[in-house]
Amino acid sequence: MTRTIDTLARAARHGMLVRATCVCGNQRHYRAGDLATLVGGGRDPRSLRFRCSQCDRKPSSVAVIEVDLDRVGVLKVWKPVSAGDGTTAWTPERLKRG
Ligand SMILES: [Zn+2]
Repeated sequence: MTRTIDTLARAARHGMLVRATCVCGNQRHYRAGDLATLVGGGRDPRSLRFRCSQCDRKPSSVAVIEVDLDRVGVLKVWKPVSAGDGTTAWTPERLKRG
């Protein structure tokens, strides 16, 4: 299945996730909808600038993925929470089906 997802809004519409993978092996998942709220739905997910929480490098790859929760059961996603002073804090959240 090939589908061109070039904006966060489009990815969010399909309920997709953005996965940032670092060369150190660290991997984080984000809801496309959360990122669209944060940076705007017109942004290309691959243009987002992530920073690895473990080694402080820029993740080597950013991919838009579809997750079948019926298959994986539960997945941890990082949810942006506005800290009120203009900064964003990220909190882990368990993504479950249903
Ligand atoms: Zn890393």
